[in-house]
Amino acid sequence: MKYIDIHCHLDSLDYDSDREEVLVRMREKEIGTITIGADLESSKKAFEIAEQNENVWACIGVHPNCLTEKSNNTVSTLGHKDNTLETVLSDFSPDGYFEKLVKNPKVVAIGECGLDYFAPRSSSGAKSEVGFSDKDKQKKLFKKQIEFAIKYNKPLMLHIRDSHSANSGQAYEDALDILESYKKVAGPEDAKLNGNVHFFAGDVSVAKRFLDLGFSMSFTGVITFTHDYDEVIKFIPQDFIMAETDAPWVAPVPFRGKRNEPTYVIEVIKKLAEIRGESVEVLNNQILKNFKRVFKI
Ligand SMILES: [Zn+2]
Repeated sequence: MKYIDIHCHLDSLDYDSDREEVLVRMREKEIGTITIGADLESSKKAFEIAEQNENVWACIGVHPNCLTEKSNNTVSTLGHKDNTLETVLSDFSPDGYFEKLVKNPKVVAIGECGLDYFAPRSSSGAKSEVGFSDKDKQKKLFKKQIEFAIKYNKPLMLHIRDSHSANSGQAYEDALDILESYKKVAGPEDAKLNGNVHFFAGDVSVAKRFLDLGFSMSFTGVITFTHDYDEVIKFIPQDFIMAETDAPWVAPVPFRGKRNEPTYVIEVIKKLAEIRGESVEVLNNQILKNFKRVFKI
């Protein structure tokens, strides 16, 4: 394996017509990936893909945006159905389905989990964020997955997204408070809690707090078309930085606007090296080491 994309969604419906071809291109270019579950159904699918492909690992868990108010029959590219808080929490219980999946060595992380306070702008253009009760549910789900990760000694794959309202920064603040509280009461088991912050969008001070917790941070193709992350990319030590595609979304330049896939992670790694003023080869080797350390491969 020459490159690793530590976060993509190969189970996405976007690959239903040609998933095998995407996997063939990955093998040809010697690219590995962790394919991420967004809820139980998607985690099962991620697990199946990982089981069938040597260069694919799975991350299982429930994305905060996949919580539903009540059972429904809608199937989106990300979540599926019946993801009420009650159902999801029971899926993580000792006789729940996640317990069956987590015992397989191809399952290397728990998530993507965390807090997402981003809500689409209303039709009037007003900025908004998720309501208080939704935040409360997200926190309960997040804590459940932290405890699950501690129980099985697996790293977390964090998804944290801020709102674009005046409270910008609150999602990172709340997530860090929760993670720090687990480290603080830590017995020897809790102390092992670590992981990676996917699609990192915080500033240097937020990055410092994650580094203190032992978390690495990964960046997507977005860095190939904005300078917003340059400062924090330069700040993070080489042994705590990772590259990802978050495919099928946010394809890097020169594929911007097209469907993304794990082979494009090479563009993200090249850009990271350019921003940091490092050689692509040296940085890429370190990223491979980081991947093996954090996900215990
Ligand atoms: Zn994702």
